[in-house]
Amino acid sequence: MKKSHSLIALGAGVMIALSCGVLLANWRMAEAAGGEVRFARPDYAVARPAGSAAIDLQKYGVLGDVKRLAGLSKNLEACRDALAAAGVDFTIAPAEHDGACGYDEAVVVDASLSDWKAPDAMPMTCDLAAKMHLWERHVVIPAAEKYLGSPVKEIKAFGSFQCRRVAGHDRLSEHAFAKAADIAGFVLEDGREISVLKDFRNKGAKGDFLREVHDRACGLFDVTLGPDYNADHANHFHLDVGGQYSCR
Ligand SMILES: [Zn+2]
Repeated sequence: MKKSHSLIALGAGVMIALSCGVLLANWRMAEAAGGEVRFARPDYAVARPAGSAAIDLQKYGVLGDVKRLAGLSKNLEACRDALAAAGVDFTIAPAEHDGACGYDEAVVVDASLSDWKAPDAMPMTCDLAAKMHLWERHVVIPAAEKYLGSPVKEIKAFGSFQCRRVAGHDRLSEHAFAKAADIAGFVLEDGREISVLKDFRNKGAKGDFLREVHDRACGLFDVTLGPDYNADHANHFHLDVGGQYSCR
């Protein structure tokens, strides 16, 4: 029996009882074949072999693959399969409608490469979750290692779904449809915290990290807004998949 299977069989009950914090402790560094250090998920939630999903989120090349990225929003089944194949644990959220706000489909990510922490659960459309995972995997984690020399433990968010209008406008925000997430900062494995509010204008490594992950989010999300846009965004990055384009 493979180790992953025996772990599931013997420890399923125990795992259900484990908190996210304990799950995080199971994250570990692993040496890839080429000696390159990579992040491995716990044995009980391994990603399938690369290439086993129609849209392979494990491959860096997906970042520039316009057709496949569009497929995430056009084909719900392919999107969910892509998330699962990449080793992301998620639950499907029931449809939610509140006047003009709401969504028919959304997922709540329970475990990705790092812990997506927010005050409340974050239901988000599958394409938003998949792009968040791509951003985390191929942009945020490598940038943290490059500039700060540490893996990322947490992505701190304010939230995703909220029935509200765009500040100063009549139209509803993409948050009203679970198509947007607000990212406040990051916590590294070594305990350091990086805050959009405090560090975006930092001249050193923390600022370089934040500016790079902001700029490269523009290539993935439809709208990326940060402190350079306006005072409403001084403390977070707004990332959305609403179909308009803006990078500020
Ligand atoms: Zn926002």
